[in-house]
Formats: sequence, C-alpha cells, structure tokens
Amino acid sequence: MANPDGQSRPARNTSHHLVRRVLVGPALLGLGIATTFSGSAIAYTAGGTQALAVGAINAAATDTAAAQAAAARAESAELASRQVASRSAVSLAQGQKEERARAEAAARKAAAERKAKALKAKRLAAAHRWVMPIKHPNLTSRFGPRWGRLHAGLDFGAPVGTSLFAMSSGVVTKAGNGGGYGNKIEITYWDGTVSYFAHMSEIDVKVGQQVRPGTYVGKSGNTGQSTGPHLHLEMHPKGGDPVDPMAWLQKHGVKIG
Ligand SMILES: [Zn+2]
Repeated sequence: MANPDGQSRPARNTSHHLVRRVLVGPALLGLGIATTFSGSAIAYTAGGTQALAVGAINAAATDTAAAQAAAARAESAELASRQVASRSAVSLAQGQKEERARAEAAARKAAAERKAKALKAKRLAAAHRWVMPIKHPNLTSRFGPRWGRLHAGLDFGAPVGTSLFAMSSGVVTKAGNGGGYGNKIEITYWDGTVSYFAHMSEIDVKVGQQVRPGTYVGKSGNTGQSTGPHLHLEMHPKGGDPVDPMAWLQKHGVKIG
C-alpha cells in the first residue's frame, strides 16, 4: 500500500525486517523466530491454551454450572423420585395394610357367617328332630283293621297321668273334647305332619301354642271310647289320612322303646 510520499515502508520494512531478521541473525533470529514463533506459539499456545483454558474453564464453568444444574436437577429428581418412591412405599405399605385389614375383616365375616350358619343348622336340626310322645312306651295295639274298622293309630298302655310330649317343633292346632277320642290335642309340625294324642286325662296346652321336641303338653288317660288307660297316637302326613305311626316313626329315625 503506497503512502503519500511514495514509500511503502511498512511493506518493505516489514519485508526487510523479516529478511534481516531471517538473514542477519539466523541464530539470533532463529532463536528470535524460534523465540518469536516459540513465543507466538507459546503465546498462541498460551493464548490458545488460555483461550482453551478459559474456554475450558468457561466450558468447565459452564459444564460445572450445567453439571451442577444437572446434578441439582438429578438430585432434585432423585429426591422427588425418593419422595415418590417413599410415598409409593408408604402408599404401597398403606395399601397392603388396608388390603390385609380387608382380608382379615372378610375372613372374620366369613368365619362369623360360617359359625352363624352352623349354629342355625344346629338349631334347625334340633328344632326338626323327632321324639316319642311318651317315655317307656308300651305298645299294646298296632295300626290296622280292628273290630271291623280301621284302628288308625298306635296304642301305648300307660297309667293315667303319664306325661306326654310334643314330637317336634310345631303349633297346637286343636285342643279339647274329640268325641270318641276323648280329650285330644292336634299338633301341626314344621313339615305339615299332624299328630293326634287321644284319651288324655289332662290337656296343658292351648290352641296356637308353639311347641318344640319334648315340650310337655298334658297327661295320658282313659277318656272317650277307651278300654283302658293308654295314649292313642295317630300320624297324619300333611294333615291328610292317617298312616301307620310305626312305619312313620321308623322312617323318621325315632326308636320305639
Ligand atoms: Zn287306639
């Protein structure tokens, strides 16, 4: 680039300077160049290094900041995760606890239901059992044709005043004078079977009274058409025609004597 005075020193000088430096003092220059270059290189290197270092520092700083931020985020995330995990663990533990409580409650309920059901079945079985109407029965006449007509029941000889008992659970449906039956009670049981107790000396129940197996109902006697003190027993399934009480009792697991 030419100056107004025609000189182009900067270029020449620069060139000369460079040539001189190169030619005149090669060793020195070499050293200088070396130094210069070295210095430059060092400077460059240093600068670069510095720049790099700065960059690195900056990068490192940035990285550090980023890392710190990332670490903070990670820590935060981890904390949140821990909290979630903790909450999840608590929630899970709570859930398991509730589940266990529900299972235990269900088990208790089921056990109580089984117990109640078993108790109900036991009570029902007890209520539905059948027993003899008289203790120490002395069978004197069976069911069947007798004196030209049907003897519709069993006769059990017994002293007047022998206690009589309901044969199962039911209700007294008749109680009073039964004509040829004398004093008679009818009990309608839970399965619809109706029993007649005839020739009684004493009736100690009233119509509508609930009875259970073995409930005392009155005393045997010799009232009505009777040839001697005894209990005349008839069984009427579903309140219909009389059947042989012997077969009926056997069928219902009741032992006579
Ligand atoms: Zn009879």
